[in-house]
Amino acid sequence: MTQISTVPTISTALPVEAGHVPHMAPLSVRIMYGFFIAVPLLGLVASIILLWGPGIDWIHLALLGVGYILTGLGITIGYHRLFTHKAFATPRWMMLFWGVLGSMAAEGPLLTWVGVHRKHHQHSDDELDPHSPNFGRSAGLLGVLRGWLHAHVGWIVMARPNSGASARYTADLRRDPLIRFVDRYWWLWIALGLLLPGLIAWAVTGTVWGGVLGVLWGGLVRILVVHHITWSVNSACHLWGFQSYRSHDESRNNPVFGVLALGEGWHNNHHAFPTSARHGLAWWQFDLSWLVIRAMQAVGLAHQVRLPTAERMAALSTAEEPTAPRTSP
Ligand SMILES: [Zn+2]
Ligand SMILES: [Zn+2]
Repeated sequence: MTQISTVPTISTALPVEAGHVPHMAPLSVRIMYGFFIAVPLLGLVASIILLWGPGIDWIHLALLGVGYILTGLGITIGYHRLFTHKAFATPRWMMLFWGVLGSMAAEGPLLTWVGVHRKHHQHSDDELDPHSPNFGRSAGLLGVLRGWLHAHVGWIVMARPNSGASARYTADLRRDPLIRFVDRYWWLWIALGLLLPGLIAWAVTGTVWGGVLGVLWGGLVRILVVHHITWSVNSACHLWGFQSYRSHDESRNNPVFGVLALGEGWHNNHHAFPTSARHGLAWWQFDLSWLVIRAMQAVGLAHQVRLPTAERMAALSTAEEPTAPRTSP
């Protein structure tokens, strides 16, 4: 399949049948997306440098970093790969662990998140997709920007008609009392995610002010960073990057978010093989979430780990000449 690199003028639903040709956003638009995503992160780095000493110390930076990794993995391993796609199975106490960590990211109650994401896969880039940057946007730079803002954050506050996910999307999970428990007390897990870094920083610094800064950096700023990175998977990874597999939508593999989003930025791989526990399918595609699942598997904490077969990967590959010869199943 060849890619076209013309300016997209999408005003109706993208076709989702086999043979769908992906659109490539123009270079100016891709640079603009990169700018919008990078500015808040650069602002964060500048804030840390400027406030170093009175406003932030090593313990707060550590709480921000560790909190980002842990609650980020709660979303990628827990909310996404385990609960939404059932890419692997794990003991009940690990389900609770990942469910609570994911809830601490403050991206919504578990069942709501899973419902929206399952609908995103079912309707990827068509009119019922809850957060497509491509569907329904008008032509021109402004239209593209509006589509991007909708996919990044706008869909949360101004949903398009019929883009909500009904309870039927999560009927299987609602039967499990453990999952209902994690879902019902979502506000408690968020509060814990704010309180814990505060208590740790208080204990380490020995001052109440140190504890307050722990809540700020390890709680509030950490939530902000995880939100921004997660939302960038929804927006940038449907616009910006390359397609290794025919997924019949606009999903892209984006190396920046492959790393920053702990493996989720290999988003074209994910749309092509949604139930795969591994998103970074090539050896060089760093996927921290997969490495953790692999480690869990090694110590017996993950089983029934799902991966695409070599035949399936070869069949969906966009490479002109697949490296692996096609074999019939
Ligand atoms: Zn997607
Ligand atoms: Zn998914």
